[in-house]
Amino acid sequence: MTAHLLDHLKAVLSEIDAEGLYKRERLIAGPQGARIDLATERGRRTVVNLCSNNYLGLADHPEIVAAAKTALDEFGFGCASVRFICGTQTIHRALEHATARYLGKDDAILFAACFDANGGVFEPLLDEQDAIISDTLNHASIIDGVRLSKARRLRFANGDMNELEDRLKEANSAGCRFKLIATDGVFSMDGYVADLPAICDLADRYGALVMVDDCHATGHLGPSGRGTPALTGVDQRVEIVTGTFGKSLGGGMGGFVAASQPIVDLLRQRARPYLFSNSLAPAVAGGSLKALEIAEKADDRRQRLAAHTKRFRSALSEAGFELLPGTTPIIPVMLHDARLAQDMAKELDGRGVYVAGFFFPVVPKGRARIRTQMSAGLTDQDLDFAIDAFKSAGRALGVV
Ligand SMILES: *Cc1c(COP(=O)(O)O)cnc(C)c1O
Repeated sequence: MTAHLLDHLKAVLSEIDAEGLYKRERLIAGPQGARIDLATERGRRTVVNLCSNNYLGLADHPEIVAAAKTALDEFGFGCASVRFICGTQTIHRALEHATARYLGKDDAILFAACFDANGGVFEPLLDEQDAIISDTLNHASIIDGVRLSKARRLRFANGDMNELEDRLKEANSAGCRFKLIATDGVFSMDGYVADLPAICDLADRYGALVMVDDCHATGHLGPSGRGTPALTGVDQRVEIVTGTFGKSLGGGMGGFVAASQPIVDLLRQRARPYLFSNSLAPAVAGGSLKALEIAEKADDRRQRLAAHTKRFRSALSEAGFELLPGTTPIIPVMLHDARLAQDMAKELDGRGVYVAGFFFPVVPKGRARIRTQMSAGLTDQDLDFAIDAFKSAGRALGVV
């Protein structure tokens, strides 16, 4: 029986490999950053990194590392408890308060990751009398979280406000008690910002709540990095924000839900990934708290990030690459063909630029791309280097 299962698993793995979809993890021999040392069979190799979520370049920030060490000394290595038994240290509440204040909400609740925050946020708040209306391009963790709730599930095509309105009408006809619209703030594969003003208008018209997963925005987009609700002027109208400390805010780990008091209070009572999982390691909480403090004041980093974004976009467009339009630091270079995207990534790797190719099933068939991500940690020289590499790799493959 066991052998039978193992044979089956081997066959699945071969299938993944045969389709060119096998993901191989590369080893980084040091900290995350704009330039990283890859550990290879022939020793270390430094590359310019265009594929991390380290938007503000804080992942190796000395003050954050120091704050994590201080928290380690002060609070020990770990809590060995869930929050409600004996796992809440003052540093956890400090991080929750700071997060809530930053995002202009009553309170916030920490999770081990935003994957858990999204996995746990829906089920306690909504039941079979209610409806969750979700953008089709929402992150996997929202899709899973919605599945775990008993609410009626309705979907609208990415950014299609007419379809969203139809779904709201459908929920009304079905007599749903509460309606929640769930959307990513920034859609990570395309770099598009959700049309939150239009979503909030529809929410108001149909009496729905809005929940935004702002993982790809908190810290670097909007005034003081307060994310897409602030960027689009609707921060007072978005009821629930979920986010991560694993991207802009130091890149450590941990997620949160920020919302009004009764929502956070009920999540503390009922959210399963909160109730049945260990509390965040104190060093991670301490480092994230410092990252938040730095991010709030990091207008210089946000300006550099925006300048890099603009320059990289125009240089690649001028060179003849097809880019998806946009303004966020996610800049997808469209190659359409999966094989070509992989070849391009390989050519760039040979030129010292680290990028990731994305193809089906991560993006639709025929929409393969290299997704580049800017970071405030990149220097102008790094950017020049990367632009030159793109031009030469593109010419080598006949893309430009
Ligand atoms: C990265 C990401 C997550 C998961 O966050 P983690 O803290 O890494 O679990 C959830 N939603 C979106 C939109 C993301 O981009």
